[in-house]
Amino acid sequence: MRIGVLGMQGDIEEHLAVFKRLNVDAFRVKSLKALNTVDGLVIPGGESTTILRLLKLTGLFGKLKDMIQKGFPVFGTCAGMILLSKEITSHSEQDALNVLDISVNRNGYGRQVESFEVDLSIPLIGEKPFKSIFIRAPLIVRTGKGVKILARYDGTPVMVREGNVMASSFHPELSNDLRIHELFLRMVKDASRH
Ligand code: GLN
Repeated sequence: MRIGVLGMQGDIEEHLAVFKRLNVDAFRVKSLKALNTVDGLVIPGGESTTILRLLKLTGLFGKLKDMIQKGFPVFGTCAGMILLSKEITSHSEQDALNVLDISVNRNGYGRQVESFEVDLSIPLIGEKPFKSIFIRAPLIVRTGKGVKILARYDGTPVMVREGNVMASSFHPELSNDLRIHELFLRMVKDASRH
């Protein structure tokens, strides 16, 4: 199994390091050629406008969208979640891949708590809470009918899945806990069986 980490900008090395700890072949993906060699892709946190611009510049935007619509597994964290979403309520002019039926507000957790850390219960990965780090995180303001909510913080969804698309508002690559990346690897394995 080969995993890609979209290598435009943001938390690229941090995700690669987690996969290395899990003994999984993971690569930085910056071109169509590289994209075609991986079985699943992480879209990291960073600056969603910068990543979007580079996705378009490299021609990856349309191809990636097409692949995701056909079942290619992706996991977006923070800015990655913004890029996957259907609607960016706070910046309606900003384009997105439109493959995950949620609406988000960029930097929606407010100035005074722009960054924070909280222990979340995520039943799918086991009983032990997951230390979740939010950095100028997107706030989910709507989830469509087909979207499964995997975790909530203060009643608001912060980790979701719709078919082959998973996303979190927080940064699992910054916690010393491999369970969310393992969950994504299981998703990729299941997808390649079909
Ligand atoms: N605030 C960033 C954005 O709107 C996302 C922050 C992050 O990925 N840590 O693109």
